[in-house]
Amino acid sequence: MKVTFPHMGTIDLVLSDLFDRTGLEYIIPPRTSERTLQLGLRYSPEFACLPLKITLGNFIEALEAGADTLLMAGGVGPCRFGYYAEVQKCILKEAGYDFDMIILEPPAMGWKLFIDTLRLLAPGKSIRQIWRIIKTGFRKARAIDELEKYVLKYRAYEVKRGDMTKAYKKALEIIKPAITDEEITEAREEAFSILEGVEKDLGRPCLKVGIIGEFYLLLEPFANFGIEEYLGNMGISLERSVYLSDWISPSSKNLIMGISDQEVAQAARPYLNHFVGGEGLPSVGHTVIYAKEGFDGVIHLFPFTCMPDTIAKSILPKVSRDYDIPVISFVIDEQTGRAGLITRLEAFIDLLASRRKQKSKLHKEHDVLVNPRFGVDVTLSNSERGLA
Ligand code: SF4
Repeated sequence: MKVTFPHMGTIDLVLSDLFDRTGLEYIIPPRTSERTLQLGLRYSPEFACLPLKITLGNFIEALEAGADTLLMAGGVGPCRFGYYAEVQKCILKEAGYDFDMIILEPPAMGWKLFIDTLRLLAPGKSIRQIWRIIKTGFRKARAIDELEKYVLKYRAYEVKRGDMTKAYKKALEIIKPAITDEEITEAREEAFSILEGVEKDLGRPCLKVGIIGEFYLLLEPFANFGIEEYLGNMGISLERSVYLSDWISPSSKNLIMGISDQEVAQAARPYLNHFVGGEGLPSVGHTVIYAKEGFDGVIHLFPFTCMPDTIAKSILPKVSRDYDIPVISFVIDEQTGRAGLITRLEAFIDLLASRRKQKSKLHKEHDVLVNPRFGVDVTLSNSERGLA
């Protein structure tokens, strides 16, 4: 059996680590590219949401590379994610591909089904061994997410543009081979010391922006046009509402993001008081939380036809008015162009910068807003900033 899985941010690091531990042969699909998207589009229904199309393209490229078993997550609704695996299976069978599919349903669908699926992924291992593997795998996944969280926050403060991105790549390489708990702890420390070693100007007043929305678009840089790195390079400090290990964990504590599902739901309650699937409810709750924490603005990303975040989008203007926090929503599909998205993003960042400037004048604070060398200075045009 040669198992494969779709890309989604750093999930290839997490799953390849897991399969190395279980002894299962696996194939990592080529990095998501324009070709992946085009392959997915060729076979997907036009009205399907973008993640289905891109991940279908990942599967096709992995099958071409020799995979014979597709691993996909299931779901319990109410959004369409729970149907993805079945729909993709039908599409690929009809297209003539020969493969088996393993659908990992969440424990909410029943622990027996969940454990039986894990047994398929860890042949010959006892439940106790599987549990240990998962526990250590999670430890590593969390370490990877902690590094990413740090990079999102501090890339804006780097003195030399690109240093943090380079350090992040190096840090991931250090953590990749760690196997035992002790090795993971050591590698995590070493990786953090590399990130902390990047020269930063922490006195620089940077804009603080929260990124919310549908999990796949938030986690997969190909789907979101690498927006996080772009904003970080502009001198914007970021916080994101979803991290991979929080998303796959059956616990609701969200150890990386730091705010539990219950707290997020509580924050959303005046506007939306029940689960609507996907990240609909968290998108509203996180906007309230970011506003209360004094963030300058919120960027909302979701795929065209995504039901849960379309609900959130209809509510966010009220949250924005009530809490006086600018929110911009980007609806993304295969027709979305990077240039258009970046233009709107820059206009939004300019708005945030001018609001901060006005506020700092009111409070007689410093006038410099963000990274004066390559960040947003509202007195400069885009070409003067080197962004045009
Ligand atoms: S959350 Fe939205 S985009 Fe994601 S699977 Fe559900 S409907 Fe599709």
